[in-house]
Amino acid sequence: MPRILAIHAHPDDIETLGAATLALLAANGHAISIVTMTAGDCGSEDLPNEEIGAIRKSEAAKAAALIGANYTCAGFPDLSVFNDDASRRRTTEIIRAAAPDIVLTASPADYHPDHEATSLLVRDACFAVSVPNYKTGPAKPLMHIPHLYFMDPIEGRDRNNVKVMPDFAVSVEAFMDTKRAMLACHDSQRSWVLKQHGIDNYMGSMDRWTARRGKHFGVAYAEGFRQYKTHPYPHTPLLQELVGNALLEAPPAG
Ligand SMILES: [Zn+2]
Repeated sequence: MPRILAIHAHPDDIETLGAATLALLAANGHAISIVTMTAGDCGSEDLPNEEIGAIRKSEAAKAAALIGANYTCAGFPDLSVFNDDASRRRTTEIIRAAAPDIVLTASPADYHPDHEATSLLVRDACFAVSVPNYKTGPAKPLMHIPHLYFMDPIEGRDRNNVKVMPDFAVSVEAFMDTKRAMLACHDSQRSWVLKQHGIDNYMGSMDRWTARRGKHFGVAYAEGFRQYKTHPYPHTPLLQELVGNALLEAPPAG
């Protein structure tokens, strides 16, 4: 049974962009691991880094537990995810330890520097996992490079406000309640947004965005993905096969 690893930058990114697809895969019996690069330690106006980081890690663990996934934090500070030697080794060690068949990560083009650095690190760490002489820690080198997929960027746009379109999407209406419940675990962020904007648009923007992606594919709700198929990454459609009837292959128009 293929194993799935989802790695994104901050607690709540995966809940916003891929949680319903993970819930579907978990319901089909797949083992899911969720990793965030940081603990989201800048996500508060009044709590010090360590305190808000601990709160957000426990929120992320609670969200992961809703689909029986395990959660770990890679331990980088917020706004300090960089594509350098030590960070690539740390990321490679995490992927080796999880030994996944499929890796889902951040879009290479997104609004936040941590998102883009995470995408680069994960892409290159996937290349490195099977290189025996690339030393990273106790985890053993993997036999194969995992299948690599990018999630949509936040709001589906790059820094120039240009739409980033997925290769395919997963119809997730049946798992929206789970996705909402997972995002709702991030109470510290929901209250912060509520305080800043006066409305509960933390949950609302996730819902609206997932509906918008659904509309591109002619369904109520969807999550989009792009498969990274450059040599020597595997290009067989493993994730597309695992989601079964929920696969939405038709390329969206515009
Ligand atoms: Zn983020």
